Amino acid sequence: MLGVYSSVIAPSIISADSPRFLGFIPAAPTKASLLFDMVVSSASIQGISWLEASGAIAAENSALRVIADEAGMPAGAGGCFVSGGSAGNLSALAVARETGKHRLGDALAGRRPRVVVGEDAHSSIVNTLRLLEMDALVVRTPDHRLTGPTVRAAIAADPDPSDVVAVVATSGTTNAGIVDDLAGVGAIAREHDWWFHVDGAYGGSGIFAHSLKPKYAGLELADSFILDPHKWLFAPFDCCALLYRQPALAKATHTQDASYLDVIHTDDPAGEWNPTDYAYHLTRRARGLPLWFSLAVHGIDAYRSAIEVAVDLARQTAELIAATPHLELIREPDLGVVLFRRVGWSPADYDEWATTLHRDGIAFIPPSKWEGETVGRFAFLHPHTPMELVRQILDRTA
Ligand SMILES: *Cc1c(COP(=O)(O)O)cnc(C)c1O
Repeated sequence: MLGVYSSVIAPSIISADSPRFLGFIPAAPTKASLLFDMVVSSASIQGISWLEASGAIAAENSALRVIADEAGMPAGAGGCFVSGGSAGNLSALAVARETGKHRLGDALAGRRPRVVVGEDAHSSIVNTLRLLEMDALVVRTPDHRLTGPTVRAAIAADPDPSDVVAVVATSGTTNAGIVDDLAGVGAIAREHDWWFHVDGAYGGSGIFAHSLKPKYAGLELADSFILDPHKWLFAPFDCCALLYRQPALAKATHTQDASYLDVIHTDDPAGEWNPTDYAYHLTRRARGLPLWFSLAVHGIDAYRSAIEVAVDLARQTAELIAATPHLELIREPDLGVVLFRRVGWSPADYDEWATTLHRDGIAFIPPSKWEGETVGRFAFLHPHTPMELVRQILDRTA
């Protein structure tokens, strides 16, 4: 069967961890994290509860602590690792809804709670709201960035925003890498007592890059924050860090009540921590351990530098595009994503360019859309992607 894997299954995979994978959001797990993923898989660690795996959970929590500290969240913040950003958003907004319903009580008067979102919020936020039976109060953002003023304008134009329970900001958007105005949006959330959720599944890791730090001002106001280590923190699939400012609120929403589970809940103030209480899940892999191990092996500075590489590639690529007459830069990159236009190209031209690059084994770089128009898109993440490859790809637009 290993033969079937190598002859049939493996060849039909587009390797997301190749330095030539420049589409969607690439992956680049460290060797240390992959090695430890095998340990986790082999050890049958049941990551539900402190009772079953206190050591593993303590280690996962120390990795979460690194992220919470970098995000500026308070000492009491905490959460767990879930399978991905979609699961993280769903779990966090479930807590937002329950907390909001509790706060509003009768004032909600049978109405569905609403959540303020920007037009560029991730598709998983849209799905989450549908699943949780909440509606979106969509904020128009002329330049695709949710800001304090755009949220204020949307609220002022709404007949009755008293049913709003939360606001979601993105740091940054998957398609263009745009980091919302977290300080402005967070301040409004505080004024109105809304839950402030920050979706950093892709771009949240940018907090580790010194050059990007100012873009994340206001993240410390978040009630919940997600970041996918399987994206830009060099961990294997599937891994999302889910953090709450006040974990007790998440526990009130997500704790499962079953007689056979009573034993995992004690009144031990010394720090029993059951990951099952902080998201919509019960059985779980201790999927934070590969990140924990790799952080310990490489040290956090190596992570900072590796993230800066992608930011630097994006900046250099933007310059190259701006300097090429038949190419147009769509916007200055915030993070590691670069959108560009090839003057005169139809959608079919972009498709052919991308298909040929893929067929020739040069790169996987499918086109994207910007304001309805088909455009080229680089998503940099792998620290071993050379600028020479970028030149080769852009040469093919001549
Ligand atoms: C990728 C992404 C998600 C979804 O994360 P998964 O891990 O794929 O479930 C959510 N939000 C943003 C901004 C993303 O980039």
